[in-house]
Amino acid sequence: MKKIIEVKNLKKSYKNNKALDGLDFDLYEGEILGILGPNGAGKSTTINILSTILKKDEGEITYFGMSTEKNLKYIKANLGVVPQDIALYEDITAYKNIEFFASLYGLKKQNLKDAVEYALKFVGLEDRKNDLPKHYSGGMKRRLNIACSIAHKPKILILDEPTVGIDPQSRNHILTSLRELQKEGTTIIYTTHYMDEIEEIADRVIIVDKGKKIEDGKIGELLTKYDETSLEDLFLNLTGRSLRD
Ligand code: ADP
Repeated sequence: MKKIIEVKNLKKSYKNNKALDGLDFDLYEGEILGILGPNGAGKSTTINILSTILKKDEGEITYFGMSTEKNLKYIKANLGVVPQDIALYEDITAYKNIEFFASLYGLKKQNLKDAVEYALKFVGLEDRKNDLPKHYSGGMKRRLNIACSIAHKPKILILDEPTVGIDPQSRNHILTSLRELQKEGTTIIYTTHYMDEIEEIADRVIIVDKGKKIEDGKIGELLTKYDETSLEDLFLNLTGRSLRD
């Protein structure tokens, strides 16, 4: 399978605090990769660096076989990022929110309209497109947050805990939508604290602790390897901690 992102020896410190200490992993085209790790393991730091929001100290990252130094514009145009903290303008309509974010990727006129309609339909918010996000439920805001990140049809979508604090219906909608995106050819990186979501959605997981990768594989294969019956137990076995710690 084709590698779409390759991360080698990634390091990042905040003053004396080593957040990433030589992280290596690959992302393969068309997969949904789950990143699991206890609090403070370095997941958000990894995602922020991959999203090009944060600078690495050391290491190499290639996207589509290219480095960010020379190809940042192309890479950014093909990345979609759903941040952990909802980033929306509360006082303009849902439609205008998506239009704004999609326009940042250079979409104009009919292409822009088509992109907004596609994203609204995708997250099931067509009926509420003229409402202000401040009148939305938490789940609807999360869905709109996703719509803003996928309207430009990125090849890679990165989601940082996209289902925190939402109702089961919105959560199911998000998980089903991600499977749909995968069918359309999008490659996805997903982090969450919810093991059941990872079990439901991830084709492969990497487990990160203290800024390093400690395991990598398909869930079933890892359970067999460590003779565990649940991802929860496997995680505890490998890190000595519960995901909720
Ligand atoms: P996770 O997402 O797995 O919980 P983070 O990437 O947020 O982990 O954090 C990794 C480590 O880096 C933690 O020890 C955290 O306290 C520290 N850290 C994260 N962001 C900052 C920051 N902006 N300033 C200082 N330390 C930080």
